[in-house]
Amino acid sequence: MPAVAEARPQTAAAPYSAGIFSGPVFEMARRQFDRVADHLHMAADERERIFMPKRAISVSCPIHRDDGSVAVFTGYRVQHHLTLGPTKGGTRFASTVDVGEVGALAIWMSWKCALLGLPYGGGKGGVTVDPFSLSSRELEALSRRYMQEMIPFVGPQIDVMAPDMGTDERVMAWFMDTYSMYQGSTVTEIVTGKPVECGGTVGRREATGRGVAYCVRRAMEHMKIAPQHATAIIQGFGNVGSVTAQELALQGVRIVGVSDHTAAYYDAGGLDVEALLEHVREHRVLRGYSQESLCDPDELLTRPCDILVPAAMERAITANNAAHLKCRILAEGANGPTTPEADRILAERGEDLFIIPDILCNAGGVVVSYFEWVQDLQRYFWGHAEVREKLEQSLERAFQRVIARAGRDRISHRDAALALGVETVRHAKQTRGLFP
Ligand code: GLU
Repeated sequence: MPAVAEARPQTAAAPYSAGIFSGPVFEMARRQFDRVADHLHMAADERERIFMPKRAISVSCPIHRDDGSVAVFTGYRVQHHLTLGPTKGGTRFASTVDVGEVGALAIWMSWKCALLGLPYGGGKGGVTVDPFSLSSRELEALSRRYMQEMIPFVGPQIDVMAPDMGTDERVMAWFMDTYSMYQGSTVTEIVTGKPVECGGTVGRREATGRGVAYCVRRAMEHMKIAPQHATAIIQGFGNVGSVTAQELALQGVRIVGVSDHTAAYYDAGGLDVEALLEHVREHRVLRGYSQESLCDPDELLTRPCDILVPAAMERAITANNAAHLKCRILAEGANGPTTPEADRILAERGEDLFIIPDILCNAGGVVVSYFEWVQDLQRYFWGHAEVREKLEQSLERAFQRVIARAGRDRISHRDAALALGVETVRHAKQTRGLFP
């Protein structure tokens, strides 16, 4: 054997090089992957081929501020694998964004798309910026400049962006417009999550929250919890958290707690979801909604409830609070809300706690993004009923596969979901072979 081959790590325990990716979120994605790779008896070199992102792009985005000065923001895009089709995933505007986080989120998108049977690799992008610190004009300038910098690296058959934390339909419209202006014609299929009037699909805005609520409904059936007697706490009141609250309330669930980065509220008698939405429409954030029901945001997660929906940041449920959770269903609306340490603690509860892992629970968003891309490519648009029915079919299939796999292999729902996703990518790579 040549010396090079001998030097290659051959055991699962061998150290790996994370390259430019570092930080706790990337580390978490790696630990989750290694658990599943152990379960799938994957050799060390195959792990690196499947896990490490294919491309990472960093761009500097200068914009004119309203006061006449120039500010420069750093943006990233990570494209995880190109084996199944274009890469797909959101763009995040948040002050916490770094390349390690974006890399982890891109990797999670891969397992999510594969679990749901979508013809995509995972992608994710982000700009390190607090979007609340920008005026509407500055936000538009940054969105357009970020997309302009990304033009050499994206395309409807290369990498398709979507909303994530801190971005919305407006930002997607600016992305689409910027790309189209450079192409010289309207290319709606370049991003998903657009407003319906410029090539978006009906039902995309609500899709992630609806998907969360659908999975919760199925979990309640498993746990024999009647929605009319159930209570829920939702951390995060952006697009995902707020729609989840609305949809759960429609099922008869009492929403007893909500929070965002500005305030947390708890009322055992139930909060008025419509009034909360109205407040956020007017003030952008939850702060100032009420004095009586104010509570400590960290404590909110450990208050009594049947359903806990972390729908904000990664690493909300950690070794510090996992043992104190009272919920029976943990519905992961956010990406990566539960750390591996917390997972270990929660596993001790056995069948008493039903975890709906993120790559299943929040997959409704990317499923309807896929529908939007298909509709844009065909220039043929579907109605509400069709989108909703196809979304529920996709989630139901994935939900059943996860439960069945967990039962068959005696593993957690998370490991089952990840195993199904990772396995799909692994098989596709094995079948296509290694080029050249
Ligand atoms: N950002 C969302 C996610 O994390 C949606 C991605 C998409 O629609 O492409 O799943």
